[in-house]
Amino acid sequence: MSNFLDRLIDISSIFNQSCVLCGSRAARQGLCAPCQADLPVLPRPACATCAQPLREPGLCGRCLRHPPAFDAIHVPYVFCYPISALVHAFKYGRQLELAGILGDLLATAAVDAGLRYDVVIAVPLSKERLAERGFNQSIELARALVGIIADRSSPGLCWRKCNTTPQAGLGPRQRRRNVRHAFCVETRLDGLSVAVVDDVITTGATLDSLSLELKKQGAKRVEGWALCRTLHLKT
Ligand SMILES: [Zn+2]
Ligand SMILES: [Zn+2]
Repeated sequence: MSNFLDRLIDISSIFNQSCVLCGSRAARQGLCAPCQADLPVLPRPACATCAQPLREPGLCGRCLRHPPAFDAIHVPYVFCYPISALVHAFKYGRQLELAGILGDLLATAAVDAGLRYDVVIAVPLSKERLAERGFNQSIELARALVGIIADRSSPGLCWRKCNTTPQAGLGPRQRRRNVRHAFCVETRLDGLSVAVVDDVITTGATLDSLSLELKKQGAKRVEGWALCRTLHLKT
């Protein structure tokens, strides 16, 4: 009997949560349906490789000029308010309860995409950055995708060699230089498809650098999964 009551209380607490954005409505998983519907969805069509929105389907100028090491990026939202505020609070404000909300948003996009990979990994943080932040936000997001896009995650598959300068605040060229050779993959991945999860895609330099290492180890296909991406005016 007490078990039954405990469960009832558990269920009611899910629905009695108030929405993290508007604060006014009861929200399942912390985000009400109207606020979820208002999130900035990435415009389509978009570049088949890097997901930069375009006027017509195809590839953007950047991907045509310099094809990246990754094969595609899947990203449901644009990095602007209010999702940018949620990501910021999650990452720097250590509001770990947001992991569930953001993970659900990414998982919903993954269910819709219906894609499968052999393994899902998160973009690793360096030891120093991990110690400073206390958690890796990308691992939290990757966890939400296990069982949807892949049956297993391999957090130890790759690691970040040195504590690179944070990408935020750097220009596109500096970003590329900053993450070049930053990752190490020690396991052979011959013939495998890999999904790499990050929170935000900006220039794609981090994903490109990690994808290159994964492909050196034999990965057949590498695709990025992120919650949102910034938009570039020039492609
Ligand atoms: Zn709301
Ligand atoms: Zn592109």
